[in-house]
Parts: sequence; structure tokens; C-alpha cells
Amino acid sequence: MVRRRRLDPCSVWDREGVLRKFQEHDILPCHADAVWAYLGKHRDRDVPLSEVSGRGVTSTRRPQGGLGKRGAAARIRPSLPPAPPPRASRGLSGGVPPLRRSRAPPDPRATPPAPPSPGTQVPGLPKAAQRLFRSAAIVKFTSRVLDAKVSAGGEVVKLLVQLQTGEQVECVVMRYDPTLGVDPSQPGGRRRGRPRATVCVSSQVGCQMGCTFCATGTMGLKANLLPAEILEQVAHACLHARTPVRNLVFMGMGEPLDAYDEVVEAVRCLTHPRIFGLSARHLTVSTVGVVPRIRPLARDLPTVRLALSLHAPSQALRETIVPTARGWPLPDLLGACADWQRQTGQPLFVEYVLLAGVNAAPEHARQLAALLADHRLDAVVNVIPWNPVLADDGIEFEAPGEAGTAAFRDVLVAAGVRCTVRREKGQDLAAACGQLVVGGAGGKRQLADIEDLGGAPGGRAACAGG
Ligand code: SF4
Repeated sequence: MVRRRRLDPCSVWDREGVLRKFQEHDILPCHADAVWAYLGKHRDRDVPLSEVSGRGVTSTRRPQGGLGKRGAAARIRPSLPPAPPPRASRGLSGGVPPLRRSRAPPDPRATPPAPPSPGTQVPGLPKAAQRLFRSAAIVKFTSRVLDAKVSAGGEVVKLLVQLQTGEQVECVVMRYDPTLGVDPSQPGGRRRGRPRATVCVSSQVGCQMGCTFCATGTMGLKANLLPAEILEQVAHACLHARTPVRNLVFMGMGEPLDAYDEVVEAVRCLTHPRIFGLSARHLTVSTVGVVPRIRPLARDLPTVRLALSLHAPSQALRETIVPTARGWPLPDLLGACADWQRQTGQPLFVEYVLLAGVNAAPEHARQLAALLADHRLDAVVNVIPWNPVLADDGIEFEAPGEAGTAAFRDVLVAAGVRCTVRREKGQDLAAACGQLVVGGAGGKRQLADIEDLGGAPGGRAACAGG
């Protein structure tokens, strides 16, 4: 049983918590939108909450604070001059008689818009909200980065993030620089696109799925991450990425569909145009196969990509690698994926960790191709050679070697299956696939960069588990 938690103090990324506090202080929810928009727009720099709330507000022009129903107008036109005095007062003073107007005169009872408070970067933010953001009740981060390791080539940054509870998760940033390397599928070998980054986030502390090749599975499940804790990982990652974050994958610690509500809420904030504004088509949720959550995912997040960690072409073999397969047999799992595909119209990404002597023979590749064809799945298979570093965690498998990996891939390609082989990044800091480990208890993690999935064979691809 996973315990339910609430962040205290509240994170500014905790949508529900912030709106609850706004309600307690009689502040309109639209002002929270404005704050998130500001933080989202400046996500590549560490904006303190004092910047959005103003330091030492001195304005006394509106002692009541708050903009009431005119808040939105004040945000749009923060520097409007004060409304003219009422017509009656001009008449009494014997001044110039009022001119005829083609439009209705301003309502003298209307509250004039407030000028922006000194130091406040979110125009029109009510004083009650400013006070709230200056108080300790809402903070920018409830988590902190304990360690940030950068790979030798600078392509990968691995962040060790400590939550408010003291528990730790990892998050990985992968930078893509098109000026480095060669893409043989492109004319002249020139790589495509602009510099961008992919972030791999965790969704749980530990995991209860128990996959035999994964150290996280040995930890058991300690907690689901809250949506705000997922968003904070992304906010931390944006500060370390030094290049725009374009892709996000739920392939860190935990099974995202086991933390379904939290992940759905986090994705809605990540794709909200006024918060993080990421494209849903650049977000991928990876699952080891929590069947009851796959069809709802098509309804709740129809544009998000789905990656299935399959790892075996038959039920009997899969049960030995992925224990949860006993509860969710392959026909049920692939049937749910086929329904997901019918509803979303998207290809399914299939992740397959190659374990020498277990699931990596050419015969397994043939069975895999047949399995996908039987279920009429439009799939892209991401072949992931086993990472020997995990042997240090007492997980005893062997890598298939380059020749074995190539042979497996060739069988799939010959059978008409689109296939990528994962290129390892960040092995020097244990951030490559299957190397993310938190604490001595395990916590192996996958690393992902699936931005080129669906492309030519040999592209980079996603990581192992769910
Ligand atoms: S591979 Fe994914 S689903 Fe399996 S135990 Fe590890 S974290 Fe959990």
C-alpha cells in the first residue's frame, strides 16, 4: 500500500496545492496561471519566487490588494492610467463641460487597475498572492539536487534529486548536438535538427514490478512521486540542460502506469501551453505492461507516445524476466496495446533488452516479429544490449556482444520490422541504460533518448524497463 503524501511547504508546481491556498486567501486562480507562465517562460534560469512576488512591496495605491474581477484586464494592460474623475465632480468645479463620446464613458465605480508592484515580474499579481509567494507556505522547489554528474563528452547529465521526504530519485538529461557525429542516413552525413535535450524522469521511489534485470525492482515500492515532484525534476533538468528541453520520457525509476493519476496530472502540466508547453508528441510513457491502465491512457492522454517494455517473445520466457507477466499474459497485454493503437493512431515503441543466452538468439527475433505481426501492431522495436555494469548490483546476465546484437537486429529488419539499436550515452557516469542506481539498495535506472525513434535503423532509442 503506497502512502498518500502532501507537500509541506507547498511546491509552486503543485497545481492543486497552489489553487487551494489561493482559494483560502480569496485570490483568483487566473493569477496562478500567470505565475506558472512566467516560471515556464524562464525555466532555463533559476527564477526565485521573490522575483514573481515582488520584494518589499511599497505601493499603497490599492490598500485592499487584489484585482478582483479586473485582474485579467490589469494583467493585459498593467500600465493603464487611473480612470478619469467622475463627471459630476468636473461639473461642480466649473471646468470644461464633458465632451460627447462615441463610446460609453468609463464606469466611475470600476476599480482602477493596479500598477505593477516594484520588483514584481508578473503584472497585476494581487498583494495577497505576493504575500503568499514571499511566505514560506509556497516554495519554488521542495526537492533539491544533491549531485549533478556530467559525462566526459558533456552529452549526459545525471541528477541525484532528494525529495522532501529525504528519499532520492534520479533524473537524466541527454543533450543532442547536431554538429557532433554523423548521420549516415542523411546526405553528407549531416545530422538533423537544432540542439535540444531529452529528459528522463522518475515516477516512483522504487518499483514493485520486480523485473529480474533491473536493480530498482529489488527496492520494492516506497512511494509514488507526486505530480509536483515530477515537474520539479523537469524544472531541475531545464536548469542543467543548457539547451532547450524538447523531449521527455518516463523511463526513470518506477513504473509510470503504476502511478497513473500522478503521471497523467504531471503530463497535463508539462503540456499545458502556459506552464511547460512541451508537445505531447515529444512525451513518452514507458510501461512494462500494466494492462488495466493502457486503454485509459489512450482516453486520458491520446497524443502521448507509449513504449512497451516487452523483453521476450513468448509468455513462458517473459514470466522468467518480468514477473508481472504472470498476472497480465501476453495476449491480454498486446490486445490492450492494439486497442491503444487503434484509438491513438500512433506507432507502438517496443523495448527489448538483449540478455545473452536468455532472449537474444535469432530464433527469439523471429518469434518477436511473428508476435507483432499476429497482433497487427505497427511497432518500432528498440533493441537494448544488456548493460554489464549492472553485474555490480548482483544482477547476473551477460551482454550479447556486437555480433549477437547485429544478428538479432538483422532478423527483425529482414522480417520487415522497424528496428533501432540503442546507442549508449553516459556510461562513464553510470547514466546509460540500466545504470541508474540510487543508494546501495539498488534503483537501476534506464536512460533514454527516443527522439529519433521511428527513424532509420541505427538511430538512438529508449531504455529498458517500464
Ligand atoms: S524495469 Fe521498470 S518496471 Fe521493471 S522493475 Fe525496473 S523500474 Fe520497475
